[in-house]
Amino acid sequence: MQVTIVGFWHAFPEAGEAASGYLLEENGFQLLLDCGSGVISQLQHYTELSGIDAVLLSHYHQDHVGDFGAFQYYRLLEPVLWPEKQHQTAVYAHREDEEGFQRLFYKEAVQPTEYRAEEPFTAGPFTITPTAVKHAVPCFGFRIETAGGSLFFTADTSYLPELEQAAAHVDVLIAESSFYAGQDGSFAGHMNSEEAAALAKRAEAGKLILTHLPHFGDHTQLKREAESIFSGPVELAAGGLKINIS
Ligand SMILES: [Zn+2]
Ligand SMILES: [Zn+2]
Repeated sequence: MQVTIVGFWHAFPEAGEAASGYLLEENGFQLLLDCGSGVISQLQHYTELSGIDAVLLSHYHQDHVGDFGAFQYYRLLEPVLWPEKQHQTAVYAHREDEEGFQRLFYKEAVQPTEYRAEEPFTAGPFTITPTAVKHAVPCFGFRIETAGGSLFFTADTSYLPELEQAAAHVDVLIAESSFYAGQDGSFAGHMNSEEAAALAKRAEAGKLILTHLPHFGDHTQLKREAESIFSGPVELAAGGLKINIS
């Protein structure tokens, strides 16, 4: 599987960038994980919108779904303007917030499907297991596996010991690091760099990608802080960063 980081910012995208969004590709199947503000614009640097086979959403904060409205409009226009490209896009989301789930429906163009905690499902070549995380609103992390590799995406969460098992032995852990070492983000349902690294260490992940990065401080400090705890490779999320998992 190949992962392309489309966006990684906490809360809102900085100029020319995007909030949470990750393009996962395997055997030509394209899965968009989260669709935060700025994602639909940035995504087109890496693929055509018509190529997206599935969208998977962690929760209904705008930095994770803010551009889903743009995607709905694309889906509405596609059969009119580019009928030759028309195809189905599956959308997977939770119903712990019914209002948020209902907002995903859009005429005939978008019909979401519910996922539930700890009930694995498949989207093309991906097997996805949602795990409830600890955030200000209902939110899910995902273990995503293919025949060739595995990753865990924490979405937005404060430190939750259960994630050590959910993410056990993944090749790549994409973990949110909204705060620096010593700062307590749990009041808002977020982790800091030390907690992200502790999760990677206890889960024995192969590699740690720090994401959902804050709008303050020097991000290279987050990397140094994480490296002081987790002995495996650590990288900072960046727009366009590609990670091969095999
Ligand atoms: Zn959130
Ligand atoms: Zn967020």
